[in-house]
Amino acid sequence: MTYNKPKGTRDLFGKELQRLEAINGMARDFFLQHGYTEIRTPTFEFAALFDRSIGEATDIVEHEIYKFETKGKGKVYALRPEGTASVLRAVIENRLPMPQRFLYIGSMYRRERPQKGRYREFQQIGIELLGESRPFYDAEIIELGSRYLHHIGSRDFRIELNSIGCPRCRGQYRIALEKFLTPHLSNLCDDCQKRFTRNFLRIFDCKNGTCQHIYDDAPKITDNLCAECGEHYEQVRNHLRGFGVDYTENKKMVRGLDYYTRTVFEFKHGGLGAQDTVIAGGRYDLLVRELGGADTPCIGWAMGPERLLLTMDDDRPELKHRRTFYVIAIGEKYMDQMIGLRDQIHGSGNICMLGDPGEPIKMQIKKADRVSADYALILGEDEEREGVYAVKDMKTAKQEKVLIAEFASFLVRGMGRKD
Ligand SMILES: [Zn+2]
Ligand SMILES: [Zn+2]
Repeated sequence: MTYNKPKGTRDLFGKELQRLEAINGMARDFFLQHGYTEIRTPTFEFAALFDRSIGEATDIVEHEIYKFETKGKGKVYALRPEGTASVLRAVIENRLPMPQRFLYIGSMYRRERPQKGRYREFQQIGIELLGESRPFYDAEIIELGSRYLHHIGSRDFRIELNSIGCPRCRGQYRIALEKFLTPHLSNLCDDCQKRFTRNFLRIFDCKNGTCQHIYDDAPKITDNLCAECGEHYEQVRNHLRGFGVDYTENKKMVRGLDYYTRTVFEFKHGGLGAQDTVIAGGRYDLLVRELGGADTPCIGWAMGPERLLLTMDDDRPELKHRRTFYVIAIGEKYMDQMIGLRDQIHGSGNICMLGDPGEPIKMQIKKADRVSADYALILGEDEEREGVYAVKDMKTAKQEKVLIAEFASFLVRGMGRKD
């Protein structure tokens, strides 16, 4: 009897996990510099939290959430499908003062059809800025996304921006849209007919060509904003220019979740085909109140590192994993030197494993190979006499002698280079 992992999940190890962890590590450092500290919430919550926040009439809540009920008490839980609702629940429950800046990193769960770069258990990195309503922060949070992507070595992306207003704008706009759509109603797909009555802005998310063709000419929410929302949107664009961030406006972008207000944005990557969104986010000024808290304006975004990694090759220096050294001492009398060497290598930020100095050198070299070490460092009587380490590059089998006094600079420059 053997067992397989569930469809849409994966085992992460080796290089792939290292690449993912490199992205996570860089996120922690980068966002900490901007005052964002990490928050970890449970991976499951009461299902009602997501019904309320994401909206019961969305595809996510209807079809994609994993729900389970406990025996006896009949409580219904859900694996979290996204991060924002949990962060807000935690902020309300722990009565945290405003403003707050949070970073979250972890697994999310959705029962979707698995496809390239898309899993049923998937990773998300997200930031949330809570308690700030000013358009300056909409621009800053977009700029942070852009700078972070550059920082980790991702380039070929573009930013799309829109405003979907507030309930006041939407009431007015709905009337205009309904008037436009009435003669076209029978040509819309079934989903759009349903969406229009329940969740009308989301018709613009439709993938159907006929629907999209009709929507090209439809009035857009962006052109029907109330005075305050219009002013906010203009300020966001001004500040984006101030930050030097390039963007394009996409009046048909409304984002898949119900809770957004005003600013919405997506970062799209050229190398990804249809599933091209790597960062998605927006403002959600009404959600904290919806979840039982005080009026709290919020803005945030989430990123899919797995999809992002599809666009990045292994050799990018930003993702380069640390080098692994395997220390091979020939005889136990080198114990002290061996331990000192291990400390030195660790101090340089690299990985160091020790061979058993009592084992024959051939066996130790074989083990260095088996653990995929980049270098074997050999330390025996010849080396002791000459005051060197013999350094063997395990990939090329080339060997060179490095003066013990110069080993620190070797750790920085690597093999075969004297500069
Ligand atoms: Zn408005
Ligand atoms: Zn449609």
